[in-house]
Amino acid sequence: MTTILLVEDEITIADTLIYALETENFSVTHVTTAQQGLDYCKSQSPQLAVLDIGLPDFTGFDLCRRIREFSDLPILFLTARDSEIDQVLGLELGADDYVTKPFSPRTIVARIRAILRRGQTSQQNDLLSTDLLHHQEDQMCISCCGQPLNLTAHEYKLLATLLSQPGRVFTRDQLLENAWDDPGSAMDRTIDAHIKSLRAKLRQHSEDAAETIQTRRGLGYTLVL
Ligand code: CA
Repeated sequence: MTTILLVEDEITIADTLIYALETENFSVTHVTTAQQGLDYCKSQSPQLAVLDIGLPDFTGFDLCRRIREFSDLPILFLTARDSEIDQVLGLELGADDYVTKPFSPRTIVARIRAILRRGQTSQQNDLLSTDLLHHQEDQMCISCCGQPLNLTAHEYKLLATLLSQPGRVFTRDQLLENAWDDPGSAMDRTIDAHIKSLRAKLRQHSEDAAETIQTRRGLGYTLVL
């Protein structure tokens, strides 16, 4: 069951929301002060937080900022005034959405579902990119889609170097330095030939994996996950 933290000091609003959410099979923990909300987030891990902005101790904005210091959990604001909406939009608080009071509980439920769905998709994408290529350094083994790759020593060191810093462009010289014991004996062409064979081996497992190694013309190579 998905647990939602609700920080709202107006009991009638809270009651309506709790009823709507529980009807939809969410489990709701309700607190009335920002401090209680912060404590709860630190000790438990709710899947989502709904924060009122005008709270008795400190504001929902401050609460959001403090939660963001240690957690990425999705946050939905309940705003009462236009000025608050401007703040939600203007400050980069890391909130995922907001709903303006007065609101229909149905709207909130729909927004919460949408936020949770987005979160699930991005988690699946994370999983995919780490599954695509996984480096087990202690075993000097790189897997592609869960299957260990059968690499020569040079191919392994090349791919490990690229994987160590995804997005960084390595020049051919840098790759030679990292992957050859005696870089002087190899030539730039050697790198190109090994990259070609690496791509071919990756392609046997996944076209996406082969495309992670990108050529930067006149510069070198980079791995993009
Ligand atoms: Ca309030």
